[in-house]
Amino acid sequence: MTAVVTSPASIRPLPPDVAAQIAAGEVIERPAAVVKELVENALDAGATAIDIEVAGAGTGSIVVSDNGRGIPSDQLIVAFERHATSKLTNIDDLERVATLGFRGEALASIAAAADIELRSRSAGDGMGGRVSFEGGVLAKTGPAAQQRGTRVEVTRLFERQPARLKFLRTAASENAAIAASVAALALGYPAVRFTLRLDGRDVLTAPGSGDLRDAARAVFGEAAAPALIALPDGSFTSRGAVTVAGLVSPSHVHRSNRSQLVFFVNGRLIQSRRLAFAVETAYQGMLPVARHPIGVVKIAVPLDEVDVNIHPTKAEVRFRFENEVFAAVERSVRDAVSAGSPVPAFQQSRFASFPEPPPAHGTAGATLWERVGIEPVPHAPVVNAGMAALPPRAETLPPLRVVGQVGATFVVAEGPDGLYLVDQHAAHERVMYEKILRERSPGVEQQPLLDPAMVQLTPRQDALLAGNLDTLAAFGFEVEPFGERIWRVRVMPAVLARQGDPAARFTAFVDDLDREDAGPGRDERVVKSLACHAAVRKGKILVPDEMRELLVLLEACQAPRTCAHGRPTVVHFSAALLEREFLRR
Ligand code: ADP
Ligand code: MG
Repeated sequence: MTAVVTSPASIRPLPPDVAAQIAAGEVIERPAAVVKELVENALDAGATAIDIEVAGAGTGSIVVSDNGRGIPSDQLIVAFERHATSKLTNIDDLERVATLGFRGEALASIAAAADIELRSRSAGDGMGGRVSFEGGVLAKTGPAAQQRGTRVEVTRLFERQPARLKFLRTAASENAAIAASVAALALGYPAVRFTLRLDGRDVLTAPGSGDLRDAARAVFGEAAAPALIALPDGSFTSRGAVTVAGLVSPSHVHRSNRSQLVFFVNGRLIQSRRLAFAVETAYQGMLPVARHPIGVVKIAVPLDEVDVNIHPTKAEVRFRFENEVFAAVERSVRDAVSAGSPVPAFQQSRFASFPEPPPAHGTAGATLWERVGIEPVPHAPVVNAGMAALPPRAETLPPLRVVGQVGATFVVAEGPDGLYLVDQHAAHERVMYEKILRERSPGVEQQPLLDPAMVQLTPRQDALLAGNLDTLAAFGFEVEPFGERIWRVRVMPAVLARQGDPAARFTAFVDDLDREDAGPGRDERVVKSLACHAAVRKGKILVPDEMRELLVLLEACQAPRTCAHGRPTVVHFSAALLEREFLRR
């Protein structure tokens, strides 16, 4: 595979008036920024294959190799001058930027923050050349054996900037950021073959077939990618100037965070809350609360209708006809999703409001709570060291009598003073949360899976998981790497395993880990996430015994009135309120 053979334009310092117009860049704030800048340079150079090797979460080394058009030997040094670029020449070019780079800052900034060696050979060169900078100054330059293309090696990143180093997050989190940005770029450039290795582990191989779905398979995994819906071809504005393409999830595929929805504007990876909002608006009413779509949305607008020069790391853009762009995105996604999502099958009979009989398996009369792993709790809760994280029992619930269930979501109960509505998921989550905290110090109850679950993660999740194996082990998971981003889950915390579909539970759990990093709150978040995924969901019809048992367990909790996330479990309508509402008083 070779890139188009064109000789590179020469690299020149920008005239001062142009340099002055450029949004000042503090481009290199973390290792992922180095990777992104180097990959963008490779893409601008027309590469069709880009290999990225990272060691030590980027502070060890970062090596990016491409087969692009290369840099002529006599321009290797000027490429490192601040504001030296081959991509713009005059002020008008800034109005129509077609390349990813345009400020001529990345190589200079990296050389200021790290040691760097660049080897390159362009079409015109008989032999390649190399240049290296150490401690911010030119160290070596000369000929070098090098294939067509460019190889950049960055070491000792931030060693001279202890403040930067101190602000880096955990290795897992920096690796996750690197994996996320390479994965996103692979979605943007499906014709480019990408490989990413982190500490010698293959984390991403995008084939470069040119088919977006192949790139999506490499990024989102074999399970999610085939379900994604292609956005319809075409333009969506009266002026016809905005086109939208890509792949988005159908309404039954969703995640607990927004990190798996990426946007490109004219080939540039950008972040935009407003675009994410436009997409989510298109799903209105189709996704469960707090769930988010995944996919890639590629927007093309005329170059002079978008300002790319507004953000230091070029991560945001400004549109001249902003509302048209948002409307086009929303339209396109809505058309695709409403045409492409299966109509949710209504699985109950028309007598669905009648409670289901308890399933006839296992010990006679096994209740849902037994099936999901709650043994009835002794009425006086056992206090042990493991409960240190729980507040002393301050609030209690009155004794409640189950009346019924509404909307497969709320348990209706009567208490000494009126009516109580209990959110079944929130209540069960509270119960599970306290159970996990209680069990923690003796050790969370584990359950080996008869059939180990195989789970394929996204590159970002894979990096996060690899860096958090100790936490997972502490919570009762036993997982091992099995292939490229495939993990085999052999043992799970029993509370999760009993919910069935271990692969889906595990993915949902990793999904929750996939947030900004750690710190002291991480274990707490793990407990909350486990509790949430172990809890009965909204939409589950409960038989009276199950409802009664849930209330007994809830009453025994230390803090029965809120779920692990702080939402109420119970809403109380007092007898007085009911009397007033019915104008009896
Ligand atoms: P910019 O990308 O904004 O022009 P950089 O500092 O990233 O600035 O790069 C400076 C110049 O070095 C680029 O304009 C380009 O000509 C050249 N260059 C950098 N990386 C590569 C590469 N991988 N292949 C070919 N040329 C490159
Ligand atoms: Mg660049």
